Amino acid sequence: MVHFVGAGPGALDLITLRGAELLQAADQVIYAGSLVNSALLKRCREDCRILNSAEMTLEEVLEAMERAEEAGQTTVRLHTGDSSVYGAIREQMDRLDKLGIDYDVVPGVSSFCAAAAALRTEYTLPGVSQSVILTRMAGRTPVPEQESIASLSMHGSSMAVFLSAGMLAELREELLKGAYTDETPAALVYKASWPEEKCIRCTVGTMVRYAEENGIRKTALVLIGDFLQSDYERSRLYDPAFTTEFRKGKETS
Ligand code: SAH
Repeated sequence: MVHFVGAGPGALDLITLRGAELLQAADQVIYAGSLVNSALLKRCREDCRILNSAEMTLEEVLEAMERAEEAGQTTVRLHTGDSSVYGAIREQMDRLDKLGIDYDVVPGVSSFCAAAAALRTEYTLPGVSQSVILTRMAGRTPVPEQESIASLSMHGSSMAVFLSAGMLAELREELLKGAYTDETPAALVYKASWPEEKCIRCTVGTMVRYAEENGIRKTALVLIGDFLQSDYERSRLYDPAFTTEFRKGKETS
């Protein structure tokens, strides 16, 4: 059996209870060494076989899973954040299906949630934005043309940009082709939830300079949108005058 486990954004207590239990019981752990906090591996049994997938190909990862399966052992495949966002798990699951190896997936706290928590902010503010776009710049890995940041920027919604902290000048150019301006609030969140976390509030116009000044080139999210400013409407759900399935609203005069 293979368990794909979301390790969370970095802090050791932001893995789920289910994920932690599977990690403790595993015969083999294959972890994404480039981003997963390796201190999480202290939870593993002493005789657990630990492999770093940053140094492996997909084929090698699958071979290791197959070998463990043949020996009747369990594997935890530990991915950073939540494995459904830039986790490259689909290709692993499809191969496991072909090999007839059973697996399940344990969700994790994605870094975009940890970044909002670090900033003590909310992506979906009434009257400001009710959508969050999770995306990335095209780099060595392409992004479909119709999903270019320029075209997604037309919406002016809340945006969390992954894998792009090293190309902020290009990101700014793309953002400006849409509804954002140099004055649109932005934030750089480096290593959200790690001890070395840095939160830098800036604007689309100043983010390049702030990143340079703080030496931020990777392991950071770029957040963009008016949700980072102070204006918004209060939620209707908790408005005294609003009736919901659970609460009758009171008319105010
Ligand atoms: N599956 C992961 C994303 C993997 S892609 C998740 O759900 O978070 C790797 C990118 O995620 C990094 O380039 C960075 O943009 C972002 N990232 C991962 N962990 C982060 C953290 N703790 N703080 C800020 N950004 C992080």
